[in-house]
Amino acid sequence: MQEYVTDAIILRKEPQGDLDGRYTLFTKRFGKIAAKAKSSRKITSKLASHLEPGTLAKIRFIDTKGTQLIDALKSDRVALALADLHSLSRLLPDVEPEPALWELLTHGAFSWQETLSILGWDPEEAECATCGDRSPAYFYITRQEFYCRTHASKAPRDAVISIDARL
Ligand SMILES: [Zn+2]
Repeated sequence: MQEYVTDAIILRKEPQGDLDGRYTLFTKRFGKIAAKAKSSRKITSKLASHLEPGTLAKIRFIDTKGTQLIDALKSDRVALALADLHSLSRLLPDVEPEPALWELLTHGAFSWQETLSILGWDPEEAECATCGDRSPAYFYITRQEFYCRTHASKAPRDAVISIDARL
């Protein structure tokens, strides 16, 4: 049975069924992956405490019947708000390593401007997809487009990333 080891940032956890947990992780080696932890809420107090969103952990997983976490060891925390971790879990492509983003999240000062440019959407060059405004304030995650304040106002809050807060 093939077993994989990598450093990972826990982006999101969702309960699944009665006892299992489902996690979205940004890993150093494989990029974003989704993984299950069997009975994580039962056995775990131990494992689960290493799988809280924002945790930087060394994880082991196997690929049978989907990706299953078999171990996690917390090493640190990243300085990101829960909302930012959730936005990342929606934004990142599956199973695509992003070394520059990994470096930023683990060693740099997080910003959405920097993150979006690493992923190929440079806010400096962006304009509102509706009106062409040259200083858009939001990035719409599922549309992968920038919008000004006015044209982002109808979007659900968790669908957009605010990018002007730190300008
Ligand atoms: Zn606009």
